[in-house]
Amino acid sequence: MKPEFHITTNIYAQRFVLQLEKWIQQNLFADFKVTAKFDWNPSRRSSRGGIYKDGPGINMAMYWAMPNNYGLTYQFKEYPSFDADRYIGGFFSTDPHHKLEAILAHEVAHAVQFFSYTKTHTKCKPHGPVFKHYYKLLREEFVNKKLPEQSSLKADYESYLAKISKISVITR
Ligand SMILES: [Zn+2]
Repeated sequence: MKPEFHITTNIYAQRFVLQLEKWIQQNLFADFKVTAKFDWNPSRRSSRGGIYKDGPGINMAMYWAMPNNYGLTYQFKEYPSFDADRYIGGFFSTDPHHKLEAILAHEVAHAVQFFSYTKTHTKCKPHGPVFKHYYKLLREEFVNKKLPEQSSLKADYESYLAKISKISVITR
């Protein structure tokens, strides 16, 4: 992929993280600051969020966070335990930024979760209720409102999956 695509996508992602940070400062923790790293190496498959040496941070596996969907409907899948959740689950979209933003919100929610532990001196599972609470707030505010109507996209996605399986039968 062209380097300028990586640069503009990094800028887009950084701006989104700054919006999340500002909202968290205004609504949750005034002293929350998060640093973001964007790694385009395809061998890096999973994104992370938490507390690092310099404080809250996220490290994004950008190659996998930004789908190459060529304008087609794609499916974003969340963790199996909450993929079906109405607020924090997976979804269908044609805009590759929606997946990127959902993953950014997911990782920033981990950073907020671990930041909150330093205040409350409590701990909970990585994808437990504390994480889900913050992820839901960020999804609702920054991602879910933008998502297109789901049932027609789901039907579209399933119809071309059916076509793909037909093609593979013919060419085999
Ligand atoms: Zn996670």
